[in-house]
Amino acid sequence: MCKSLFVSAVLLFGISWMACGQITQEDKIREQQMAAEAARSTMISRMIDEGVDRMEMGEYEAANTIFRDVLEKARVVPTDLTYFFGKNSYFLGKFQQSVDWLTKYVELKGTKGQYYEDCLNYLDKARAEVRKEKAVESDNVREILTSDYEIDCGPSGMVICPVCKGRTVIIKKGPLGTTYQECPYSDKHGYLTCEQYNQLLRGELEPRN
Ligand SMILES: [Zn+2]
Repeated sequence: MCKSLFVSAVLLFGISWMACGQITQEDKIREQQMAAEAARSTMISRMIDEGVDRMEMGEYEAANTIFRDVLEKARVVPTDLTYFFGKNSYFLGKFQQSVDWLTKYVELKGTKGQYYEDCLNYLDKARAEVRKEKAVESDNVREILTSDYEIDCGPSGMVICPVCKGRTVIIKKGPLGTTYQECPYSDKHGYLTCEQYNQLLRGELEPRN
């Protein structure tokens, strides 16, 4: 009885000693992790400072490389970086990217951010540039229409009237039956002159009375 109590006590002591040992081990790992995290965040801060220095010196490409490196290394993006990266993007002419990141800064920090005023300033500029780019793009994709050009009708100088298809009458099938109307554009053979044809394309050809 007494012996078994002793054994139990020893066992209990052993178990608690082991548990103690494990907690110490976990603490050690946690401490190491915290130290590593602190070192990482110090490194990230230094990199950001270096990037900002480069940006202020006008070395935007170099700053961009550093900021991109931070984005890869940092587990989460430091809030201030959204401002620095957005501003630097503006200098690089990446305006949509600039708007995106600067907007994030304002969203994250609100009006109390250290760089709020400057951020808004660059946000306005970047937005204006994006609008300009969009205007240029829509100019480029604008459809090219025949009505913008004078069309050569060939040696005859005459074109079969596209309104009546050369039939001289416009045939309309309505609910009350088919109606026939004399074509107000073409001559009695169903032709248009080249000039009339071009006017028609531009919507400028007046119907005859
Ligand atoms: Zn016609």
